[in-house]
Amino acid sequence: MNHPAEHTAIQQARRPFPAALLESLKEQFGDRVSTAQAVREHHGRDESPFDPQLPDAVVFARSTEDVQAIVRLCAQHDVPIIPYGNGSSLEGHLLAVQGGVSIDLSEMNKVISINAEDLTATVEPGISRKQLNEALKDTGLFFPIDPGADASIGGMSATRASGTNAVRYGSMRENVLALTVVLADGRVIKTGTRARKSSAGYDLTRLFVGSEGTLGVITEVTVRLYPQPEAISAAVCAFPSMGDAVRAVIETIQMGVPIARVEFVDTLAVRAINRHSNLTLRESPMLFFEFHGTEAGVKEQAQTVQDITAQNGGTDFDWATRPEDRSRLWNARHNAYFAMLQLKPGCRAVTTDVCVPISRLAECVVETEKDLLGSWLPCPIVGHVGDGNFHVAMLLDPAKPEELEEAERLNRRIVERALKAGGTCTGEHGVGLHKMGFMIDEHGEDAIGVMRSIKQALDPKNMMNPGKIFSFTH
Ligand SMILES: Cc1cc2nc3c(=O)[nH]c(=O)nc-3n(C[C@H](O)[C@H](O)[C@H](O)COP(=O)(O)OP(=O)(O)OC[C@H]3O[C@@H](n4cnc5c(N)ncnc54)[C@H](O)[C@@H]3O)c2cc1C
Repeated sequence: MNHPAEHTAIQQARRPFPAALLESLKEQFGDRVSTAQAVREHHGRDESPFDPQLPDAVVFARSTEDVQAIVRLCAQHDVPIIPYGNGSSLEGHLLAVQGGVSIDLSEMNKVISINAEDLTATVEPGISRKQLNEALKDTGLFFPIDPGADASIGGMSATRASGTNAVRYGSMRENVLALTVVLADGRVIKTGTRARKSSAGYDLTRLFVGSEGTLGVITEVTVRLYPQPEAISAAVCAFPSMGDAVRAVIETIQMGVPIARVEFVDTLAVRAINRHSNLTLRESPMLFFEFHGTEAGVKEQAQTVQDITAQNGGTDFDWATRPEDRSRLWNARHNAYFAMLQLKPGCRAVTTDVCVPISRLAECVVETEKDLLGSWLPCPIVGHVGDGNFHVAMLLDPAKPEELEEAERLNRRIVERALKAGGTCTGEHGVGLHKMGFMIDEHGEDAIGVMRSIKQALDPKNMMNPGKIFSFTH
């Protein structure tokens, strides 16, 4: 599907891919180099509505040394490199808009060390968040960041991801302590330490977290871990309107209740979830809550929240204390994206992820709802509302350009509103190709100029995932 709003970002000139490079890669990596159409197609797309743009080759790396060798070979030939984690990004991050080599990191999926006493783990980048939690199962610890997809820790670092737990545990920004990174010239650097804090110079870790593969390839990640809470309970609560639900969240946050998860789901999204996950939730705007702590702490938090929801018109406050009921509920929430896609068979989704200061959330959500009511596209809304972050999934038929245009019109209005409210165009998905057009509006020319200078200093040949985040020309 051609994408009118981001035409210039998507249609970039491909660079030559010399036969000599392919030969050298094959010599060094044998059958771990693929030029098969299906493999290239798989690596030249993500979960965005954009059509794939294929890399010229895919190499499956198994070590930092492998990555270093691939990068050095590509650097000799000025060929782009696109790191590939699990392919779940949503903004066109992985499209090989200038061609090049996709480095697949999925075989680098080992836990290197777990330091239970320090509450840290060091892992290879291809391990997924679920694989990491599986490895932590017997330690009494867990890693809380949980995007809806089973993303890789490297990809999550590269997009500065978050998820339903971010309101309590933060995003990848707060939870990555140290990295090993292969730079565009093949140097390998370590950023950060396992210490909880440091004032030692520029914070390079946080520069690479969120850099979307444009500054280097992450080959090791040290993350923070947390003790499994002594008690957990979850609840759902129905509301007469979206505004009421969001006001209940704002009061909860402003009162400092240390809630672990609070997710908003609108009526259409509840319908989709009920159908997809075989649930019988009331079809009205809803909040999903989870509380972590001691038995007494959880009870106290839940009572406070129940009072707040009641004052905001909340009804049917329903508890899920048994682990199997809780996981049924949260699995349903995690599958909401796929449930929503089933509302319109064959559709693809343009998904927004604006994030605003919590005090402005209610007005942003209510105004957005008005916009959506005036549109003919089905647009269910879900959101990590405790962070001020919400998603509208605009379901469109890829064969109908007018539907894409309508989705982009709505998207622009939502982003403009968020920026006016002091928020951001992307709370967690990242920029990729799709949000490039909003970067100057959000940051200003000078700040984007500083980003360009950093990119030029670290990657003067513009090899690392080129053509993403910001443009060099406009
Ligand atoms: C159903 C669904 C729900 C989602 N829910 C959420 C959510 O709640 N929160 C959220 O934040 N996101 C969410 N996402 C988006 C997505 O899961 C995240 O962006 C995730 O962090 C991407 O990880 P990945 O391993 O799939 O990375 P990929 O898609 O493979 O790559 C993403 C970007 O990171 C770069 N990259 C990957 N690995 C490395 C590396 N080792 N070094 C350097 N760069 C690298 C790539 O080049 C690319 O630019 C969702 C996606 C889907 C499909």
